[in-house]
Order: sequence, then structure tokens, then C-alpha cells
Amino acid sequence: MQYRNDKYGNPLSVLGFGCMRFLKKGNAIDMEQAEKQIMRAFDSGVNYFDTAYIYGGSEAAIGEIFEKNGIREKIHIATKLPQYMISDRSSIDRYFNEELKRLRTDYVDYYLMHHMTDIAMWEKLKKAGILEWIEEKKASGAIRNIGFSYHGNTDNFLKILNDYDWDVCQIQYNYLDEVSQAGVRGLKAAYEKGIPVIIMEPLRGGKLVNSLPEGALKAMQESCRNWSAAEWGLRWLYNQKEVSVVLSGMNSLEMVDENCRTASEALPGHLQESDFQVYEEVRKAINEKEKVGCTGCRYCMPCPKNVDIPGIFRCYNTMYIESKHQGRFQFAQTVGLTKEPAFADQCIECGKCEKHCPQNIPIREKLKEADRALRPLPYKLGINLVRAYMFRKSR
Ligand code: SF4
Ligand code: SF4
Repeated sequence: MQYRNDKYGNPLSVLGFGCMRFLKKGNAIDMEQAEKQIMRAFDSGVNYFDTAYIYGGSEAAIGEIFEKNGIREKIHIATKLPQYMISDRSSIDRYFNEELKRLRTDYVDYYLMHHMTDIAMWEKLKKAGILEWIEEKKASGAIRNIGFSYHGNTDNFLKILNDYDWDVCQIQYNYLDEVSQAGVRGLKAAYEKGIPVIIMEPLRGGKLVNSLPEGALKAMQESCRNWSAAEWGLRWLYNQKEVSVVLSGMNSLEMVDENCRTASEALPGHLQESDFQVYEEVRKAINEKEKVGCTGCRYCMPCPKNVDIPGIFRCYNTMYIESKHQGRFQFAQTVGLTKEPAFADQCIECGKCEKHCPQNIPIREKLKEADRALRPLPYKLGINLVRAYMFRKSR
């Protein structure tokens, strides 16, 4: 296993165990399988285990497994505050105490504000007293590192990153998301501040393994490497020194063994020019299915009406590259739930963006098309309801 240090010099295994995809037995987690997989990973050097309040049964399952095997002190637990459910200081305490109980521990190594998409969420937490709360918990040793997990756009990521002295952050990042969400800009900005970056969705929830088009698989198979699709995805991340830990939601011993092997072999800078050509061909094969040739360069931004042009086009393409559901889901996360609305129907057709687009995209026309696909009426109503709940005034 390779290790990369956290902010205070503690070694973290570059492969982290994502504890949200355990196999089920009936309605509950299959504890026998989960224990075998966790202990196999532990024996192979994995020391970072990621869970969250809302991962049904996960905190309680890993708490039981760590206690039973006496390894709590030898591993790091990362879990998350369901910040979207917080209205005041007492609710922060309530969720945290419940998490400690589930995890059978009296401290959390890495405690993250879960699923932030906008600086407004952080502002709301500050109003609820989170800063004083963090200070107290860190002073008492109940929390060792504080951070946030993120799914919004790059600009909001940078705002949150620069607003507090974070110990860690967690972003969605993979070879298809190089310029979306926090993206490579966010990754590098965190690295420059000395903040370790934990990677989630390294294989886009398995899509970069199970849903690759023929051309992408062919490019991998015809290369001189004998790597699986998962290995291609993980190696792209390990190759970057700015990445600290890559989470993988493992649920078989084979997966644990393969991922541990990759994590012990793949050093920063190990990829060669010929490998990058393969990634290019894979991306090309995936992107051939796209609807708008937007590269995410952002030359068209900012829009005077705050329309998230690249974000909307990325989600529109995802509908056709992956699935309608995935595109709409990503749209809800990254465009639909920012405090300042960023929808395509805010466009006043000034044309400013089109003058700067190196791809000569008829942005105004394509925005209308994308909006029709991404926000059919039921989705529009659903997003509005969630927005009303998330951005309600705190008590
Ligand atoms: S044309 Fe629409 S999207 Fe483009 S800059 Fe103007 S308002 Fe924004
Ligand atoms: S300038 Fe064009 S290619 Fe670049 S992000 Fe905007 S729409 Fe996409």
C-alpha cells in the first residue's frame, strides 16, 4: 500500500474504503461479507474508512466490525454531518452524538460537512453556530480533522475552500470530471493550501467500468497495458500527486484485492504519454454520444444573468453519455441547488457568451434545448421544492 500524508503528517492509505455499497442480506447489510471485505482491506494496509449519517446502516455496521476486531485505534474513520438537515446548534449535537454511538467510538478522525454545493450552505451553518461547535469538539478531541464533501461547481468550491481553515476536503473527480464540479482547478487550489483531497466517485459510481462504449473498451484493450477498466480509472488519479486518498465502494474480495494491488503499484507520475493517448481515445468514444461539444473551458463565463452555461451543457451531455436519470441527477446537484439560481431560462439572449466560445457553440439555442431535456415539469417542481426547503430561513 502507498500512503500520502494528511495535513498533520499522518499517513493515509491512498486507497480508502467507501462504506456505502455493502452487499445486502434482505434489507440489512450482509455483516459477514462486509467484515471479510473490511478486514481484507485492513490487512492489505487500508486505514481510511468513509461513511456518512445517511448511508443506511453503514456507520453502525463498521462500528461493530471495528470493535469486534479491535482495530479502532489503528484506522481512521471519516463520517459526515447531514448539514442539509441542520437548523440550529442542538441539531448539530444530536446528529454527532448519534453518529458516535453508531460508530461505537468517542472520536471521529475526519468529520465532514456532507454534500455542500454552495457557499450559502456554509453561511447557514455558521449562523447555526458551527464555528464555535467545531472549536469545542476539536479542543475536546472528539473531532480530529474537520472538512467538507462537495458536489457543486468550481467557483463555489473555491469560495468554501477559502472561507475556513479546513483540514480536509472531499470531491468527485475522475478522468471524465476533470473540469466539472470542483475539478482540477479545485484539486490544485486545495493542494496548494496544504489541504488533503479525498476523491469520491473515482469510477463515476461504476459507470467507467460497466457502461463504457465499445470504442472506449477497444482503446484500453489495444494498448500495451494489461489493465482493467477500473485500474485505468484509479491509475489516472494516483498519477496526480495532489490526490491524497481515492475512495472505492468495494463489495467483493476480488475488488478489494485488485484495488489494493493497483494502489500499491501506481505512484505519482507513473503514467506515460501513450497512456494519456488511451485516456483521450476513451474520452472521445464517450463524448461521441454528447449533444453539445462544450469542453468546459468557461471562456463564456461569467454570464450577466448567472446562467451556469458549462454546468448545464455537461449535465445535458451526461443524459446521453450515461443515462437520462444521471444527467438530471447531476443537474439537480450542481446547477439546481445553488443558492443563486443558475437556470437556462434566466438567459436574456444578450449574446455575450457566444462571442467568447472557442467551440462556436450557438449557446442561446442549445441552452433552450438543454433546459427542455433537463427540466421537464415534474423535475422543475421537484427542484423548486427542494430549493425552498434548503434555502428556507433558519430559525
Ligand atoms: S446570452 Fe444568455 S447565457 Fe449568454 S451571456 Fe447572455 S444571458 Fe448569459
Ligand atoms: S466557452 Fe463554449 S466550450 Fe467553453 S464552457 Fe462556454 S460553452 Fe463550453
